[in-house]
Amino acid sequence: MTINKERIYKMGLPLIFLAGAAFFLMWEHDDNPRNDKQEYYHHTGKVFGTYYNIRYSSTKDYEKEILEKLADFDGSMSTFNPQSTISLINTNQSDTTDFYFEQMYAVAQEVSILSNGAFDITVASLVNAWGFGFRNKETVTPELIDSLRGLVGYKSISVNNHKLSKNDSRTMIDASAIAKGQACDVVAQLLTNKGCKNMLVDIGGEVVCKGVSDSGKPWRIGITKPQDDPTGTNTDLQEVISSTDLCMATSGNYRQFYYDGDIRRSHTIDPRTGYPAESDILSATITAPTCMLADALATACMVLGSDSALAMIDNIPDANAYLICSVADKDTMIVITTPNFPINKQ
Ligand code: ADP
Ligand code: MG
Repeated sequence: MTINKERIYKMGLPLIFLAGAAFFLMWEHDDNPRNDKQEYYHHTGKVFGTYYNIRYSSTKDYEKEILEKLADFDGSMSTFNPQSTISLINTNQSDTTDFYFEQMYAVAQEVSILSNGAFDITVASLVNAWGFGFRNKETVTPELIDSLRGLVGYKSISVNNHKLSKNDSRTMIDASAIAKGQACDVVAQLLTNKGCKNMLVDIGGEVVCKGVSDSGKPWRIGITKPQDDPTGTNTDLQEVISSTDLCMATSGNYRQFYYDGDIRRSHTIDPRTGYPAESDILSATITAPTCMLADALATACMVLGSDSALAMIDNIPDANAYLICSVADKDTMIVITTPNFPINKQ
């Protein structure tokens, strides 16, 4: 058999031309010409004095957009940023609220009601006095605590027409117990809007996950063992949760604490007494429809103690708790969960 090289050559040219044109059209219509394959991106860094650890699958790298969103959020909610909305409100330079502030305020007030005042964003002066806030620690005396308690009370602030009013101008707001969870929701929403289906957004231990990890399996999220860890380096886990759709937050008393003589002072303050909370809960992990709600509820549980915490969580649709508690002799830990907490049932 003879091969007609000239014929192949003549047919080949138009074919090469057609293939080239098709490639050109594809190139022209692809938003992201260099990478049309989904791949997992991973960004880590520091934000609001803590870390972020964000993974997602996409055809495009969204690090720039994520950082812009976090900077935006910081400009609203960070008490360490002197020009943020919350700082201007705390120093009475402004009473104007913004979107993130109002979103935070609505959930914070809801959780204050649900927890009978155990959660309270007006606790800032007490948090600062005990040395856990955005201002220097003060010499704590019962008189000081009594006077600061007068500045605390979620019912003494309100928001109307994008303005915050305070009964006492010295009242300050601390959103640390809710803002990390809110920031997770904000980043997860950004990625969802970009079309991402698989993501894990972890900001300082509060987590939103959706879809699957790069192994093709559900995300695995650890709950840290509550052992004293002031440097934040403990990696011992109490439990690992696998999930394809979760908003989860943990509050604990094992990282932010100090000893005042023999008394252990930890960073969750009971607004009703003015003193650091002394409940039986060592760590409270909450799942809820949003990470912001989970974050606020976790802090509320730390103040309430296990009995009242479980009663509160039972009344909130789609919220669940995993509480690690100390029993009487303080050397033994027990875990109490609500029935639907998503522990992996083997
Ligand atoms: P973490 O996730 O680091 O354990 P939380 O979410 O529990 O932290 O937030 C603790 C922070 O919240 C404290 O450092 C303080 O700034 C603030 N805070 C302390 N007590 C309360 C309270 N009762 N209600 C609201 N915020 C509080
Ligand atoms: Mg919290």
